[in-house]
Amino acid sequence: MAEEKELRYEPATIEPKWQARWASNPKMFAAEPADCGKPKYYVLEMLPYPSGQLHMGHVRNYSIGDALARHMWMRGYNVLHPMGWDAFGLPAENAALKHNTPPREWTLSNIAAMKVQMDRLGLGYDWAREIATCLPEYYRWNQWFFLRMYEKGLVYRKKSKVNWCPECATVLANEQVVDGCCWRHETTKVDQRDLVQWFYRITAYAQELLDGLDNLDGWPEKVRTMQRNWIGRSEGTEVDFFLDEGSGVRDQGSEVGPSTAPAAKSASGSVQDDNRARIRVFTTRVDTIFGATSVQLAPQHALVAEFTAHDAELKVQVEELLEQQKKAREAGDLGAIEKHGVPTGRFALNPYNGERVPIWVANYILADYGTGAIMSVPGHDERDFEFATKYGLEIREVIQPVQEVESAERLPFCSHDGVLVNSGEFDGLSCVDAQKKLQEIAAQGAFGEAKVIFRLKDWGLSRQRYWGTPIPMIHCEQCGLVQVPDAQLPVLLPDRIEITQQGGSPLSRVPEFLNTTCPKCGSAARRETDTMDTFVDSSWYFYRYTDARNDRAPFDPATAQYWFPIDQYIGGVEHAILHLIYSRFWTKVMRDLGLIVNDEPARRLFTQGMVIKDGAKMSKSKGNVVSPDEMINKYGADATRMYALFAAPPDRDLDWQEDGVAGVSRFLGRVWRLTERYATLARSGRGQKVEAPSGLSLKLLRKLHQTIAKITLDFEGRWHFNTCVAAIMELVNEMQAADGQLAGGEVPAPVVLELLRTLALLLAPMAPYLAAELWEMLGEEGDVLRAPWPASDPELAKEDQLEIPVQINGKLATVVTVAADADAKVIEDAALADEKVKARTAGKTVVKIVVVPGKLVNLVVK
Ligand SMILES: [Zn+2]
Ligand SMILES: [Zn+2]
Repeated sequence: MAEEKELRYEPATIEPKWQARWASNPKMFAAEPADCGKPKYYVLEMLPYPSGQLHMGHVRNYSIGDALARHMWMRGYNVLHPMGWDAFGLPAENAALKHNTPPREWTLSNIAAMKVQMDRLGLGYDWAREIATCLPEYYRWNQWFFLRMYEKGLVYRKKSKVNWCPECATVLANEQVVDGCCWRHETTKVDQRDLVQWFYRITAYAQELLDGLDNLDGWPEKVRTMQRNWIGRSEGTEVDFFLDEGSGVRDQGSEVGPSTAPAAKSASGSVQDDNRARIRVFTTRVDTIFGATSVQLAPQHALVAEFTAHDAELKVQVEELLEQQKKAREAGDLGAIEKHGVPTGRFALNPYNGERVPIWVANYILADYGTGAIMSVPGHDERDFEFATKYGLEIREVIQPVQEVESAERLPFCSHDGVLVNSGEFDGLSCVDAQKKLQEIAAQGAFGEAKVIFRLKDWGLSRQRYWGTPIPMIHCEQCGLVQVPDAQLPVLLPDRIEITQQGGSPLSRVPEFLNTTCPKCGSAARRETDTMDTFVDSSWYFYRYTDARNDRAPFDPATAQYWFPIDQYIGGVEHAILHLIYSRFWTKVMRDLGLIVNDEPARRLFTQGMVIKDGAKMSKSKGNVVSPDEMINKYGADATRMYALFAAPPDRDLDWQEDGVAGVSRFLGRVWRLTERYATLARSGRGQKVEAPSGLSLKLLRKLHQTIAKITLDFEGRWHFNTCVAAIMELVNEMQAADGQLAGGEVPAPVVLELLRTLALLLAPMAPYLAAELWEMLGEEGDVLRAPWPASDPELAKEDQLEIPVQINGKLATVVTVAADADAKVIEDAALADEKVKARTAGKTVVKIVVVPGKLVNLVVK
């Protein structure tokens, strides 16, 4: 007799069927209005760049977010789960060059392709709120925000360095500079040029951005630490050394802002009482200033240019220093730079005692930190000590330790725990008192002041690119800089444009764009041709989702207030600094504009690990890219998603193994067959109560309720989804092991129904297609997504017996079975009565017994 052919789990049939049903119901994944009476939950995955292809990192990120969204829907929340596209940026221009496709076309067709992939994965997004940042309906609000920030003095222009390829005659982005050369001209060295650039004054919020981190306890500690370091607050003193020779110091660049802007912070902060040129240094240890034996300048310092103008040899040396600094910067490790310096032959005067010290230029001094100049105190600073030792500069002790130190290793002494010596009238003061005193004197003498500085720099937003938001400003010969009036927004990007990546900003070569009329005086004027950094787009997109089709405002404040802050934000840790600092800044600015009331964008942040293959990052060049489409074709979307949750803890890297996906697919097949086999029995139990279960029924229900408890706890914040999947697998194994008894009718129909029905519910966030199918097989009404999440019954979940491992001298000897509520004495007796324990301890002495009730017994035996 031919064996009955077993029915097969076929994701290729099940998944398209449900995908079509979900697509036909626009309410399925739609957020409800604020007055729906449910608590709100806003879950958000970072929006992707539309490259045209999802990669496995996306799949992982979205599988986590979608599981959480579905879980919250089942918990009865009004869930907002939107998706959009970070659609401006350089790759579209590169593609235009390569394939001669206009950036807009290329981008929109990529979006369409990726949306198909997302739909196949069964991701439950509220597509009615979709945004693409490259569309005028979105970027007009970037322009609107720019103007509001300009009016508040939070936007300004200043000269700044850019990468310039002389061959292309254009500005290069950092990622277009390869080993110091142009990416298109591999032997052409990239220059640094001064261009007038636009900046957001993010530093105005530096202190608040720092302080706010203390309250973000739903963010990973590593992200908060990275942001603290990035903001980099130091308290110290700015002090002027006087130049010993007459040459004047040039003004170090000035800001041009609107007339309503607050005055830029004064560079010197004090009235100059004489005309001597000054070198302003920043130090956190002004108490050591009598130990300063040189002043050191960054190679880019304005004064260095003056010195080298008359000294060709020095000029060459300084260029070498610059080159070394640039290389270290590119290598990403400025801190580890091998320190080099050159003496300039010039001298500076210590403002406190008139002592003459040499001026050096050094490669480790950064132009953009502090004032770009330091005083070097080798006796009390590790770095200065190293430098002075190398170049034979004087090392002088001016702080004496309070506690006696071996004289051989006395210097450098870098602690604050000392008193001043060799410091004239300040001898004997403690470091802290001396700092205060010296700051007062500097302020009185108008040669310095107490100062808090931040490592955080203002946000340069100008890009000399086409595919970005046009900056809504007009240059008029008569009126100067003029804002584009709100009524004329958006300033549209011209559609068809020749992309050559040569000869400067592409928009400057489009006369219809460039030439305009001044809104103030009506004379001919030019539009600004820079576009905005794409980080602008992603700094506020999540507010737009709350009211995505609004054409009168970026969003309705009341609606944003209902949804914000985001309850759970999920994305890669590579965005810890830029995106997540810029969005926090933007939130604070919008708050101060009166648009929102929250101080921070997201209450909780989760950063998932990377998806790698064979231990390496997936990349085309390594040929180890796994395509989501291929996985879905072979194993189904459910198996692909569930594997992404199962293969590693979500915060760790996941090494993609196709065998693992196949394994998950086989597991889902077992669940499908189990349900198939017992669906009829289960359906017959509907409406009947499960009365006082015992025996096998109790055993299975206990496992079920333990599994519910575990998964619920994980969704509430523990997020060990890998162990959740493992727990469901164990549950299914137990049910399969009982197959004979189930077939024999040993378990009543209502129990079978509860087991299978709950199994479908537990799978719904992670394998939504299969769950929907199982739900239908069991004859359940409505969508599983709207069925209430199961509650664990603690009485049923309680173990009546526990297995306790018994160790002898730390090694597992046996396992004893005791009542779940057994106390230490009962467990100890059970352990000592065990035959294996008796045999292993025969003739020896039990020195100590440690019992951890419910967990473990350890015997120390000699
Ligand atoms: Zn070039
Ligand atoms: Zn004008």
